[in-house]
Amino acid sequence: MFDTVIRGGHTVTANGVTQADVAIEDGRIAAVGLALGSGKEEIDAQGLHLLPGVIDAHLHFNEPGRADWEGAATGSRALAAGGGTVFFDMPLNSTPCTTNAAEFERKRVALAAASITDFGLWGGLIPGNLADMAELAAAGAIGFKAFMSNSGLPEFPRADDATLLDGMAEAARLGLPVGVHAEGEELTRELSQRMLAAGRTGVRDFLESRPVMAEVEAISRAVLFAGETKARLHIVHISSGRGVAVAVEARSRGVDVSIETCPHYLFFTTEDVERIGVAAKCAPPIRDAHERDELWNAVLDGWLDLVASDHSPAPIEQKSGDFFHAWGGIAGVQSTLAVMLEAGYHARGLPLERIASLLATRPAERFGIPAKGSIALGMDADLALVNLAGVTKLEPEHLFQRHRMSPYLGSTFRGTITRTIRRGESIFTGGVITAKTQGKLLKCNR
Ligand SMILES: [Zn+2]
Repeated sequence: MFDTVIRGGHTVTANGVTQADVAIEDGRIAAVGLALGSGKEEIDAQGLHLLPGVIDAHLHFNEPGRADWEGAATGSRALAAGGGTVFFDMPLNSTPCTTNAAEFERKRVALAAASITDFGLWGGLIPGNLADMAELAAAGAIGFKAFMSNSGLPEFPRADDATLLDGMAEAARLGLPVGVHAEGEELTRELSQRMLAAGRTGVRDFLESRPVMAEVEAISRAVLFAGETKARLHIVHISSGRGVAVAVEARSRGVDVSIETCPHYLFFTTEDVERIGVAAKCAPPIRDAHERDELWNAVLDGWLDLVASDHSPAPIEQKSGDFFHAWGGIAGVQSTLAVMLEAGYHARGLPLERIASLLATRPAERFGIPAKGSIALGMDADLALVNLAGVTKLEPEHLFQRHRMSPYLGSTFRGTITRTIRRGESIFTGGVITAKTQGKLLKCNR
């Protein structure tokens, strides 16, 4: 007798989509196939698809220290409502930032008490913390995040070239990846100052101050440094097809680089940003339809490793005002799978197994998280059950995050997430959070 059997659904694995039941024992997948024995709990999945639970490799829950911006309790519930079972929290926006082992432990304790999903933690790479990287790695950091441009927060200064180069060499020695926010500081700072000096603070002015060129230049520099230091490089939130092309070219030369984009770069264009306003402000900014389509071509051609939300909310009073002064971050943690189903599977024919790879399998592989990311024997039973024919128009009352502001509000998504299962426990069921236990820190294999 299994603990749970999910019966009658279609299961998405690396080999494709097959009709298969899934049996769960002690939080792990005990069998995948037809005519499985019975379970103490039986879940009817007729008409549903089973995908691996979303692993969101990039978000900011801002806890401890800035939980009024979000917090792991609300953030992890929003993630679960979107089919998510794991997140990797960035080292900044929480305060103090996660740049040494003591702060790492402080965050681990706070998140383990509040989160209903499992989590990994990024460490920070900032000027002056080179000596802290080894103890961050020992504590279980999944990688080191660095900014090549101003992070927007004074307590997390950007990595100048020497810091980045030294940090990559140290990360390579420790066997961990470095994640970079790739926008060139000099260009974006100068262009921003020119706009402000001219009193230009509108949406088009903001977009012009952070051109694709600034992203392409920074990616070029990052892959050069990674090649030189033999570091594993992860480029977060690439916003343009040209940016992806530079990283892909470096990969073809043997640089170990992985590529991430975000749902908002795939879902919105600059016209949408003009319509939505500062709720759609982020850096790098959302691009025009041509760049969005180039990004989609890269996804469809298999060049991207993963899609992550970069959920980075702020209190609503800070997410207001002109485009240069409003907080730059998109609050979209609940919508990643919904976007990939609507804009990927339904609108562009992106196969479900590719969505599973981008949202779960590759994030687990790239960051060395054992027993996560796919539906297979012995893996943790982390699952999202989806009704592909269901239609949801996202309304504020659907959002589980702390501040009910999201650029996706009012958008219609084909594909409804009906249940999320984390290590065998249904943590979201039929629109309601049903978690009874908390998540835990995941450590990576180095
Ligand atoms: Zn971010």
